[in-house]
Amino acid sequence: MAAGVEAADDGTALTAKSDLFQTESLLTDVERATRKRIARFNREHAAEGAAARWTEGRMALELVPELTSLEVYGGGVDGYGCSGLGDVTDGLIAAELAKVDFGLSAFFGIHGVLSLRAISSLGTDEQKERWLPGMARGELVGALGITEPDHGSDTSGIETTARVVDGGYRLTGRKRWVGNASIADIVVVFAKDETGALGAFVVDGKAEDFSAVPIEGKIGMRSSWPTDIVMTDVFVPASDRLTGGDGGHQIAGTFNAVRPIAAWQALGLSIGAFETVVEYVGRRMQFGRPLAGFQLVQEGLAEMAVLISSMRLTCLQTSRALENGTLTHVTASAAKMLCARMGRQVVARARDLMGGNGMLAQHVVGRHFADMEAVFTYDGTDHIQSLIVGKYITGLSALRG
Ligand SMILES: Cc1cc2nc3c(=O)[nH]c(=O)nc-3n(C[C@H](O)[C@H](O)[C@H](O)COP(=O)(O)OP(=O)(O)OC[C@H]3O[C@@H](n4cnc5c(N)ncnc54)[C@H](O)[C@@H]3O)c2cc1C
Repeated sequence: MAAGVEAADDGTALTAKSDLFQTESLLTDVERATRKRIARFNREHAAEGAAARWTEGRMALELVPELTSLEVYGGGVDGYGCSGLGDVTDGLIAAELAKVDFGLSAFFGIHGVLSLRAISSLGTDEQKERWLPGMARGELVGALGITEPDHGSDTSGIETTARVVDGGYRLTGRKRWVGNASIADIVVVFAKDETGALGAFVVDGKAEDFSAVPIEGKIGMRSSWPTDIVMTDVFVPASDRLTGGDGGHQIAGTFNAVRPIAAWQALGLSIGAFETVVEYVGRRMQFGRPLAGFQLVQEGLAEMAVLISSMRLTCLQTSRALENGTLTHVTASAAKMLCARMGRQVVARARDLMGGNGMLAQHVVGRHFADMEAVFTYDGTDHIQSLIVGKYITGLSALRG
């Protein structure tokens, strides 16, 4: 059995063990069916070689056409050839992929949700017609760049400029940590125009003066390719600036749609680690009996199971609210904060229960342990989410000194 297959299995018995509040019963038939399709994709394609890809720092680019053939991009977008399956389905897919190969989940989250949704919510009808069908078919791969080397949490400090020229803009600046950008056809880049206003510009990922180089030496999320971007006077036609809302609100709106996905990814990593460790402690013998029979081990498993069960409810409720148009930015932040924190606890317990084997990338748990650190940081760090929730509680912003 290939490493990771046990975690990819959609066996209802294993699912039930970390679904103590029966969230599964709240899913629609279509949602359940879509998740099962991704579980099959995991079993038949993604599980094999996942450990090797992670160790080599390589994304499963060769599996993208197969993933694309499942017609899963754009769950939160109606029309334009997008799947329209709903935001919950987007989350279920991100979680299912994360169980086995976090690089594929990141690809899906950035292309199939983040960049696609940014264009759908900020673009004009003409812009949507131009890009979304190709993105839905996987012919145009998308990325989205906000973060810069010197401006991460504080997006108001963005230094990338968009200079007005005849027929459009010239973009100059650097972006950091932008996923998918080295393979992207279009990159939604946030930059400031000459008036200092922040805007979203759709940049041709193959443009001559645009370079995106994967960041080397990551300690987690190794089967994904976040990049460093350098832009030197890259031309963007005026028609390729996304004009819905002002720049600050554009960024906030983007985070609202994507923070729930980060929560689902934390859930997927947690389920993958849990299911692997349940199987492991059942067969690992110490002191003459399986580890699973010891009280302390069971306490660890119980903690993981209740945390994951709570994460399932949180993710579902948050994405349902997004689907119904009632999600607030506070709830999106709270969900990301809670799931990243709980997820960190789950993968740490799982890693411990695997003993020395938990230190090896060949086992699902070690990889997920390291990958969870990225979730803790991206789409706004844990601190930033807590300050957003803190402001909601107190009415006072503690973000700035
Ligand atoms: C694997 C990965 C993938 C990513 N993918 C993308 C992507 O596709 N597109 C993109 O645009 N970005 C992406 N990012 C960037 C990510 O969103 C940023 O790393 C994150 O927002 C933090 O910014 P920073 O790294 O500059 O850290 P900083 O902002 O420098 O933060 C460092 C520390 O200071 C804390 N801190 C900062 N401000 C405050 C404050 N006011 N109060 C208290 N504590 C504070 C932070 O919480 C953190 O602990 C990705 C990052 C990673 C690691």
